[in-house]
Amino acid sequence: MKKITGKILTYDNEFNGILKDGKNIYSIPNVIYNETVEVDVEGKPLRAKVLEKSTNRITPPCEIYYQCGGCKLLHIKYEEQLKMKTELVRKLFADRFGKGNLVNSCLGMEKPCNYRNKNQVVFGNHPKEKLISGFYAENSHKIIPFKTCYVQDEISDKIVGKIKDILIKMHISAYDEDRKRGLIRHVMVKRSFKTKETMVVVVTAEENFPGRSNFVKAVIAQCKEVTTIVQNINTRSTSAVLGNKENILYGKGYIIDELCGKKFKISSKSFYQINPYQTEVLYNSAINNAGLKSTDTILDAYSGVGTIGLIASSKVRKVLSVEIEKSAVIDAQFNAKINNIKNVSFFNDDASNFIVNLANRKERMDAIIMDPPRSGSDERFLKAVLKLVPEKIIYISCNPNTQVNDLKLLMDKYEIKYIQPVDMFPHTAHVENIVILTRK
Ligand code: SAH
Repeated sequence: MKKITGKILTYDNEFNGILKDGKNIYSIPNVIYNETVEVDVEGKPLRAKVLEKSTNRITPPCEIYYQCGGCKLLHIKYEEQLKMKTELVRKLFADRFGKGNLVNSCLGMEKPCNYRNKNQVVFGNHPKEKLISGFYAENSHKIIPFKTCYVQDEISDKIVGKIKDILIKMHISAYDEDRKRGLIRHVMVKRSFKTKETMVVVVTAEENFPGRSNFVKAVIAQCKEVTTIVQNINTRSTSAVLGNKENILYGKGYIIDELCGKKFKISSKSFYQINPYQTEVLYNSAINNAGLKSTDTILDAYSGVGTIGLIASSKVRKVLSVEIEKSAVIDAQFNAKINNIKNVSFFNDDASNFIVNLANRKERMDAIIMDPPRSGSDERFLKAVLKLVPEKIIYISCNPNTQVNDLKLLMDKYEIKYIQPVDMFPHTAHVENIVILTRK
């Protein structure tokens, strides 16, 4: 045990508080800037006793806040969270490019709760309660049961609760990771807040699902909101939630959502933004500030199910859309059809391969919208962008740290014009960021 006392001086990139003791620097969770804390720096995990509280501290409105680790900022007033996220982006862009002054305030939610359109819950067996459902504790496979989650959709949480009761009544067991026995691994509920369509995905450890049709009957009878039920079979012993094989047990096997006036298909597996309210804010901020012209040909890279390109398509002449996941590309083509959009072409390829080919063919690209995963883009992609020299680049990122590394490679030919953080994930340590660049 080695106790130290001190003031929280600043935050690291995950909003842990920084505490210094001589040359030693510690990252402390659950604290706030300027608080005086006492920490046993040999304890695992590090837990601070707050001696002088910040005026921004609140009681987290969640029973499992300290175990779950999902909403790392739930102990901080929401307005302060937004300031912290703005400051993180401001500091990154000030240090790297001297452009801190261009960073707009992070766009937050009016009601920052119950925003997730996808609830994912793990199931386990329990000697007394028979079945439990919850989240894994941070960095472990211990299940922390909960009834409602502050950021998940309430109706979807209720559906999971009813499913649990149905499974208990039917004597269906959860999968036991250690013994590799039992059936139910996870239940996922995806719901459109606009159309109200609701999909239940039951992840089972094997295809054989005794009592399947009675289970489906009970779910439909007790959960009126459910419009489709899918069985996903995951026989693997990795931490991936979903397996490849699926059976549609009820309904059409997918749901339709609406974003920015367009319809989108959500299936169990393909990527879809989880906060639909803020997705509209994000897409509108990016598209409306990009200065797109009706004569433009644009590229939507890392396009998922085609959302950004399809929404931008009415402003431009032509969109090329590239995405590596085949199932997402198939969904994107479906999405173009149901919205009657004809000026978007979809390509199933690695974004870097695709853009290198475009550059070699010297194709004209007026703007490039890119929205890569957390790890960022790569040098091949960015070098090809420099060959194509589009007038504008719109870089959307869920990880501003990798975003600034990528942008560095573009600075000879491009100038940063607009920086807009958006709070896609209130109460978590994540921040989304839009950067718009123009050719020098
Ligand atoms: N723009 C979309 C998706 C963003 S998520 C939206 O807003 O919904 C990032 C997407 O990049 C995912 O769909 C992922 O499958 C895709 N992706 C990851 N690596 C890729 C690569 N090397 N080439 C093309 N797409 C990739």
